[in-house]
Amino acid sequence: MDAEKARYIVRYYCQLMTTPERLAHRHLMGTGKATHGRTDAVAQRETEKSSHIARELLSNDPKILQLASEGLDAFIVRTAQRILDEHGGEVAFNYCPRCGALAKTPKARQCRVCRHDWHSAAQTTQRIKNIEYRSGQASLISRRRPLVTS
Ligand SMILES: [Zn+2]
Repeated sequence: MDAEKARYIVRYYCQLMTTPERLAHRHLMGTGKATHGRTDAVAQRETEKSSHIARELLSNDPKILQLASEGLDAFIVRTAQRILDEHGGEVAFNYCPRCGALAKTPKARQCRVCRHDWHSAAQTTQRIKNIEYRSGQASLISRRRPLVTS
């Protein structure tokens, strides 16, 4: 899985993380804050020994440290894959209708790759649904009419 897709899953479906994953994520975010974005094992040890306030986010549970041991990027890819394997049906990917790139958020209506904007397409789809609904009603009425006249 590519890093972008993994970040999308972990960011917008964080409720699907297990408690140990949540704590490992917190541990890694704390490490990143204290070390200006570094989250590898060395950075984690440095943060533990530092007096940085983000140290409070760190865990000393061996199980959590194991989950975090390879740093944030590896953690995110592994966690996203686990979420997808166990909750695939709950994750919705928002792809650009023009170029197929994954949008930045599940509700985005503009592509960050090709700049295509599908706000109006979404509105048009809604308008078509409304028209179909109304014409459906109309055809029900016209079908009823012969019965009334006969
Ligand atoms: Zn696009």
